[in-house]
Amino acid sequence: MITIKSPREIETMARAGHIVAETLALLRREVRPGLSTEDLDSLAEKFIRSHPGARPSFKGLYGFPKTLCTSINEEIVHGIPNPRRILQEGNLVSIDVGVQLEGLHADSATTVAVGEISPEAERLLRVTQECLVAGMAQARAGNHVGDIGHAVQAVAESAGFGVVRELVGHGIGTQFHEEPQVPNHGQPQRGPRLLEGMTIAIEPMITAGHYATRTLPDKWTVVTADGSLAAHFEHTVAITAGEPKVLTR
Ligand code: MG
Ligand code: MG
Repeated sequence: MITIKSPREIETMARAGHIVAETLALLRREVRPGLSTEDLDSLAEKFIRSHPGARPSFKGLYGFPKTLCTSINEEIVHGIPNPRRILQEGNLVSIDVGVQLEGLHADSATTVAVGEISPEAERLLRVTQECLVAGMAQARAGNHVGDIGHAVQAVAESAGFGVVRELVGHGIGTQFHEEPQVPNHGQPQRGPRLLEGMTIAIEPMITAGHYATRTLPDKWTVVTADGSLAAHFEHTVAITAGEPKVLTR
Protein backbone atom coordinates (compact mmCIF):
# COMPACT_ATOMS: atom_id res chain seq x y z
CA MET A 1 0.00 0.00 0.00
CA ILE A 2 1.27 3.46 -0.90
CA THR A 3 0.72 5.89 1.97
CA ILE A 4 0.26 9.66 1.76
CA LYS A 5 1.93 11.58 4.57
CA SER A 6 0.46 14.58 6.37
CA PRO A 7 2.39 17.87 6.38
CA ARG A 8 3.19 17.16 10.03
CA GLU A 9 4.63 13.71 9.19
CA ILE A 10 6.70 15.22 6.38
CA GLU A 11 8.01 17.84 8.82
CA THR A 12 9.09 15.07 11.22
CA MET A 13 10.76 13.19 8.36
CA ALA A 14 12.59 16.40 7.43
CA ARG A 15 13.91 16.62 11.01
CA ALA A 16 15.07 12.98 10.80
CA GLY A 17 16.51 13.79 7.38
CA HIS A 18 18.43 16.74 8.76
CA ILE A 19 20.19 14.41 11.22
CA VAL A 20 20.92 12.04 8.31
CA ALA A 21 22.41 14.91 6.27
CA GLU A 22 24.53 16.10 9.19
CA THR A 23 25.75 12.53 9.80
CA LEU A 24 26.88 12.21 6.17
CA ALA A 25 28.53 15.66 6.29
CA LEU A 26 30.43 14.63 9.42
CA LEU A 27 31.59 11.35 7.84
CA ARG A 28 32.58 13.08 4.60
CA ARG A 29 34.93 15.31 6.64
CA GLU A 30 36.37 12.32 8.52
CA VAL A 31 37.01 9.93 5.60
CA ARG A 32 40.75 9.44 5.06
CA PRO A 33 43.20 6.60 4.41
CA GLY A 34 43.85 4.49 7.52
CA LEU A 35 40.38 4.83 9.07
CA SER A 36 38.32 1.65 9.38
CA THR A 37 34.70 1.39 8.31
CA GLU A 38 33.95 0.49 11.95
CA ASP A 39 35.43 3.88 12.96
CA LEU A 40 32.93 5.58 10.63
CA ASP A 41 30.11 3.49 12.07
CA SER A 42 30.99 4.39 15.68
CA LEU A 43 31.12 8.10 14.84
CA ALA A 44 27.76 7.90 13.09
CA GLU A 45 25.98 5.98 15.84
CA LYS A 46 27.27 8.32 18.56
CA PHE A 47 26.26 11.39 16.55
CA ILE A 48 22.76 10.09 15.74
CA ARG A 49 22.03 9.04 19.32
CA SER A 50 23.18 12.48 20.60
CA HIS A 51 19.86 13.79 19.21
CA PRO A 52 17.01 13.11 21.67
CA GLY A 53 14.63 10.47 20.31
CA ALA A 54 16.76 9.64 17.25
CA ARG A 55 18.06 6.14 16.52
CA PRO A 56 19.84 4.49 13.58
CA SER A 57 17.21 2.94 11.27
CA PHE A 58 19.46 0.17 9.95
CA LYS A 59 20.49 -1.35 13.28
CA GLY A 60 18.38 -4.51 13.58
CA LEU A 61 16.53 -3.91 10.29
CA TYR A 62 16.15 -7.43 8.81
CA GLY A 63 18.91 -8.34 11.30
CA PHE A 64 21.52 -5.88 9.95
CA PRO A 65 24.08 -5.36 12.74
CA LYS A 66 25.32 -1.79 12.22
CA THR A 67 24.34 1.89 11.90
CA LEU A 68 25.86 2.39 8.43
CA CYS A 69 26.25 0.44 5.27
CA THR A 70 29.81 1.07 4.04
CA SER A 71 30.60 -0.29 0.58
CA ILE A 72 34.04 0.05 -0.95
CA ASN A 73 34.93 0.07 -4.68
CA GLU A 74 33.17 -2.90 -6.39
CA GLU A 75 30.83 -3.20 -3.41
CA ILE A 76 27.56 -1.55 -4.42
CA VAL A 77 25.53 -1.52 -1.20
CA HIS A 78 25.01 -3.20 2.18
CA GLY A 79 28.68 -3.53 3.15
CA ILE A 80 29.01 -4.19 6.90
CA PRO A 81 31.34 -1.89 8.87
CA ASN A 82 34.32 -3.83 10.22
CA PRO A 83 37.39 -2.81 12.29
CA ARG A 84 39.62 -4.79 9.90
CA ARG A 85 38.33 -2.97 6.80
CA ILE A 86 40.70 -0.03 6.39
CA LEU A 87 40.12 2.79 3.89
CA GLN A 88 42.95 3.10 1.38
CA GLU A 89 44.04 5.98 -0.82
CA GLY A 90 42.14 5.77 -4.10
CA ASN A 91 39.08 3.92 -2.72
CA LEU A 92 35.50 4.92 -3.32
CA VAL A 93 33.41 4.40 -0.19
CA SER A 94 29.62 4.53 -0.33
CA ILE A 95 28.03 5.44 2.98
CA ASP A 96 24.32 4.79 3.46
CA VAL A 97 22.48 5.82 6.63
CA GLY A 98 18.93 6.04 7.96
CA VAL A 99 17.52 7.76 11.04
CA GLN A 100 14.26 7.06 12.84
CA LEU A 101 12.71 9.94 14.79
CA GLU A 102 9.26 9.94 16.41
CA GLY A 103 8.31 6.81 14.48
CA LEU A 104 9.33 8.08 11.02
CA HIS A 105 12.41 7.34 8.92
CA ALA A 106 14.69 9.22 6.51
CA ASP A 107 17.35 7.60 4.29
CA SER A 108 20.28 8.98 2.33
CA ALA A 109 23.55 7.80 0.81
CA THR A 110 26.66 9.39 -0.63
CA THR A 111 29.86 8.07 -2.18
CA VAL A 112 33.12 9.62 -1.04
CA ALA A 113 36.61 9.58 -2.59
CA VAL A 114 39.39 8.46 -0.23
CA GLY A 115 42.28 10.77 -1.13
CA GLU A 116 43.12 10.89 -4.83
CA ILE A 117 40.99 8.72 -7.12
CA SER A 118 41.26 7.79 -10.79
CA PRO A 119 39.69 10.00 -13.50
CA GLU A 120 37.24 7.14 -14.27
CA ALA A 121 36.19 6.98 -10.62
CA GLU A 122 35.73 10.78 -10.62
CA ARG A 123 33.52 10.48 -13.69
CA LEU A 124 31.46 7.70 -12.07
CA LEU A 125 30.87 9.90 -9.00
CA ARG A 126 29.85 12.88 -11.11
CA VAL A 127 27.51 10.91 -13.37
CA THR A 128 25.85 9.07 -10.46
CA GLN A 129 25.08 12.43 -8.81
CA GLU A 130 23.68 13.64 -12.14
CA CYS A 131 21.49 10.51 -12.21
CA LEU A 132 20.07 11.40 -8.80
CA VAL A 133 19.38 15.00 -9.88
CA ALA A 134 17.69 13.78 -13.10
CA GLY A 135 15.57 11.28 -11.16
CA MET A 136 14.51 13.86 -8.58
CA ALA A 137 13.52 16.28 -11.37
CA GLN A 138 10.89 13.74 -12.47
CA ALA A 139 9.59 13.17 -8.93
CA ARG A 140 6.50 15.37 -9.02
CA ALA A 141 2.77 14.82 -8.68
CA GLY A 142 1.18 13.52 -11.89
CA ASN A 143 4.35 11.80 -13.13
CA HIS A 144 4.89 8.06 -12.73
CA VAL A 145 7.56 6.04 -10.97
CA GLY A 146 8.78 4.96 -14.42
CA ASP A 147 9.62 8.58 -15.28
CA ILE A 148 12.18 8.59 -12.47
CA GLY A 149 13.83 5.34 -13.55
CA HIS A 150 13.83 6.36 -17.18
CA ALA A 151 15.61 9.64 -16.38
CA VAL A 152 18.23 7.92 -14.21
CA GLN A 153 18.86 5.24 -16.85
CA ALA A 154 19.21 7.78 -19.68
CA VAL A 155 21.94 9.71 -17.84
CA ALA A 156 23.84 6.59 -16.75
CA GLU A 157 23.72 4.77 -20.08
CA SER A 158 24.60 7.81 -22.17
CA ALA A 159 27.78 8.00 -20.07
CA GLY A 160 28.46 4.31 -20.81
CA PHE A 161 27.71 3.15 -17.26
CA GLY A 162 25.47 0.35 -15.96
CA VAL A 163 22.26 0.67 -13.93
CA VAL A 164 21.84 -1.91 -11.15
CA ARG A 165 18.51 -3.73 -11.56
CA GLU A 166 18.25 -5.97 -8.47
CA LEU A 167 18.19 -3.11 -5.97
CA VAL A 168 15.76 -0.22 -6.09
CA GLY A 169 14.58 2.92 -4.32
CA HIS A 170 11.46 2.76 -2.21
CA GLY A 171 8.65 4.47 -0.39
CA ILE A 172 9.59 5.41 3.18
CA GLY A 173 7.71 6.60 6.27
CA THR A 174 6.67 4.70 9.38
CA GLN A 175 8.29 1.68 7.69
CA PHE A 176 11.81 1.98 6.34
CA HIS A 177 10.85 0.21 3.11
CA GLU A 178 7.35 0.96 1.85
CA GLU A 179 5.66 0.79 -1.52
CA PRO A 180 6.20 1.77 -4.23
CA GLN A 181 9.48 0.31 -5.42
CA VAL A 182 11.45 2.99 -7.31
CA PRO A 183 13.69 1.27 -9.89
CA ASN A 184 16.57 3.13 -11.55
CA HIS A 185 15.46 1.98 -14.98
CA GLY A 186 12.07 2.09 -16.65
CA GLN A 187 9.65 3.50 -19.16
CA PRO A 188 8.10 6.97 -19.05
CA GLN A 189 4.49 7.08 -17.79
CA ARG A 190 4.68 3.52 -16.45
CA GLY A 191 4.37 2.33 -12.89
CA PRO A 192 2.43 3.88 -10.01
CA ARG A 193 1.39 7.52 -10.34
CA LEU A 194 3.14 9.96 -8.00
CA LEU A 195 0.83 11.88 -5.69
CA GLU A 196 1.40 14.89 -3.46
CA GLY A 197 2.39 13.73 0.03
CA MET A 198 4.12 10.51 -1.04
CA THR A 199 7.64 10.18 0.39
CA ILE A 200 10.19 8.13 -1.53
CA ALA A 201 13.90 7.37 -1.44
CA ILE A 202 15.51 7.80 -4.88
CA GLU A 203 18.85 6.00 -5.02
CA PRO A 204 20.73 5.36 -8.26
CA MET A 205 23.32 2.56 -7.97
CA ILE A 206 25.58 2.92 -11.00
CA THR A 207 28.44 0.70 -12.18
CA ALA A 208 31.48 1.52 -14.29
CA GLY A 209 31.09 -1.88 -16.00
CA HIS A 210 28.21 -4.31 -16.38
CA TYR A 211 25.21 -3.91 -14.06
CA ALA A 212 25.03 -7.58 -13.00
CA THR A 213 25.51 -8.17 -9.26
CA ARG A 214 26.27 -10.95 -6.81
CA THR A 215 26.04 -11.17 -3.03
CA LEU A 216 29.09 -12.07 -0.92
CA PRO A 217 29.08 -15.03 1.52
CA ASP A 218 28.33 -12.59 4.40
CA LYS A 219 24.83 -12.58 2.81
CA TRP A 220 24.70 -8.75 2.88
CA THR A 221 27.37 -7.15 0.71
CA VAL A 222 26.25 -6.77 -2.91
CA VAL A 223 29.11 -6.39 -5.41
CA THR A 224 29.39 -5.96 -9.16
CA ALA A 225 29.71 -9.39 -10.79
CA ASP A 226 32.54 -8.12 -13.02
CA GLY A 227 34.42 -6.38 -10.19
CA SER A 228 33.92 -2.91 -11.68
CA LEU A 229 33.54 0.18 -9.49
CA ALA A 230 30.11 1.23 -8.23
CA ALA A 231 28.68 4.46 -6.81
CA HIS A 232 25.47 5.18 -4.88
CA PHE A 233 23.77 8.49 -4.09
CA GLU A 234 20.37 8.79 -2.41
CA HIS A 235 17.92 11.35 -1.09
CA THR A 236 14.54 10.99 0.59
CA VAL A 237 12.03 13.38 -1.02
CA ALA A 238 8.40 14.39 -0.53
CA ILE A 239 6.29 14.68 -3.68
CA THR A 240 4.63 18.04 -4.33
CA ALA A 241 2.95 19.60 -7.36
CA GLY A 242 6.32 21.14 -8.28
CA GLU A 243 9.91 20.44 -7.30
CA PRO A 244 10.13 17.65 -4.71
CA LYS A 245 10.95 18.66 -1.15
CA VAL A 246 14.33 17.09 -0.40
CA LEU A 247 14.16 15.85 3.20
CA THR A 248 17.81 14.73 3.57
CA ARG A 249 19.71 17.84 2.47
MG1 MG B 1 19.81 4.29 1.97
MG1 MG C 1 17.04 3.57 0.55
